[in-house]
Amino acid sequence: MIKRITHVGVAVRNMGISRELFSKLLGNNFPHTEKVEEQKATIAFYPIGEGSIELIESTESATGGSSIAKFIEKRGEGIHHICLEVDNIAQEIMRLKSLGFQFVDDKPSPGGDGCLVAFLHPKSTNGVLIELSQKIESQNAGKV
Ligand code: ZN
Repeated sequence: MIKRITHVGVAVRNMGISRELFSKLLGNNFPHTEKVEEQKATIAFYPIGEGSIELIESTESATGGSSIAKFIEKRGEGIHHICLEVDNIAQEIMRLKSLGFQFVDDKPSPGGDGCLVAFLHPKSTNGVLIELSQKIESQNAGKV
């Protein structure tokens, strides 16, 4: 089941510059930051009410296989994805695949903020990259 929008991801070229900007904008100088090896990215989360804004900076070049770097090369900085929280990511992947949606990866992988994540291919979602996310602490993580 899809529960809510957890965050909107914003691709940025320079985390230092963008953190300064968003810290001013949102009145929060201490976003939760971490490096996510699997996604080849550094991220900063700014909580806003029930959701958050996630800044994403690539730790590698586009030729190094970073999807964020590729995105910025193609479209420039800006909104990169919308993240939906689900209660059981494996079940949601199966449900959506059976409805004809395509995924970037078939299996969930570790994302930021203690979550398992999977991305729907924008080809099958009106050009919008959608991230499904499940808290790893929750009992059914990764299981059907
Ligand atoms: Zn995200």
